[in-house]
Amino acid sequence: MKNHIDTIKKILPEDRIFINESMKKHTTFRTGGAADLFLMPENAEQLSELIRLCRREGREYFIIGNGSNLLVSDRGYRGIIIAVTEAFSDIEVSGNEIHAGAGALLSGIADTARKNSLSGFEFASGIPGTAGGAMVMNAGAYGGEMKDVVKSVEALTPEGERVNLSNSEMGFGYRKSIVKSEGLTVLKIIFSLNPGNEGEIKAKMDELSAKRREKQPLEFPSAGSTFKRPEGHFAGKLIMDAGLAGFSVGGASVSEKHCGFIINRGNATSDDVYRLIKKVREVVKEGSGVLLESEVMMIGDF
Ligand SMILES: Cc1cc2nc3c(=O)[nH]c(=O)nc-3n(C[C@H](O)[C@H](O)[C@H](O)COP(=O)(O)OP(=O)(O)OC[C@H]3O[C@@H](n4cnc5c(N)ncnc54)[C@H](O)[C@@H]3O)c2cc1C
Repeated sequence: MKNHIDTIKKILPEDRIFINESMKKHTTFRTGGAADLFLMPENAEQLSELIRLCRREGREYFIIGNGSNLLVSDRGYRGIIIAVTEAFSDIEVSGNEIHAGAGALLSGIADTARKNSLSGFEFASGIPGTAGGAMVMNAGAYGGEMKDVVKSVEALTPEGERVNLSNSEMGFGYRKSIVKSEGLTVLKIIFSLNPGNEGEIKAKMDELSAKRREKQPLEFPSAGSTFKRPEGHFAGKLIMDAGLAGFSVGGASVSEKHCGFIINRGNATSDDVYRLIKKVREVVKEGSGVLLESEVMMIGDF
């Protein structure tokens, strides 16, 4: 470990290296143990060097954005978490395009789009993730998805090489893309939007934001919808019909406001969340025959 940190110090300044970092601070579930190492590269060169180093030395690594779709084990993560966050959050406008760093928050990109009278990004304004994280799952809401607005993506391969991928090369599908399957680290995204009217864009965003506040338990920590939408069904409805509204394991509960959300009532552990996910899957499968698939990514031992 000591040797390892010494090598990392040649790549990153010391104040960007965190040992035994609690992942509670870095996930919207506010649960989970510590990561052996948590690194915050300042630029693409450092990021690329870190990826090469992990590969060379056979160290497991995991890229994190805003941690809004992530459950980290209470026993932590025996590897290196690399944060692609504020140092990668530049947002620039060029005609009808927005060029965003992977660490830019979707809310910030939506704001920029509105201020520049660019329409098409309204659907994403309330998704609390980074642009990079949104590429992984082809994040979507209210009838829109990343696939509709992405022109191209710049990424690093697992070998640390830069590649440019067009929209059609991203393999976007329902809550999927090639980012995970190819082990890519997203660096930048070009979004292609349409000229619009600032007032109308704002009205749309306000409407969607009011809908979220009304329907979703935003007052509790969560990772949004816990399960993917099964074909022909809605996860929340299946869970409600199974009588699981409010069902709890420890401090984790099925939200009564929106059964598709598992929430942390304040003192939940990741194990509570995990056991609740398992229980919901079992009960729903038994009652309806539908096997729910987790949308939330899990890392560490469960
Ligand atoms: C209240 C709430 C509401 C939500 N509503 C929605 C919604 O409407 N629609 C929706 O789709 N999602 C929703 N989500 C889930 C979540 O916000 C999205 O999945 C988001 O895109 C995740 O981005 P992130 O930066 O937080 O990613 P993280 O949680 O940090 O990571 C998620 C995955 O992306 C990978 N990743 C992150 N950054 C990169 C990168 N630069 N390069 C490569 N891989 C990367 C990680 O390795 C991980 O596998 C919601 C979550 C919450 C808490």
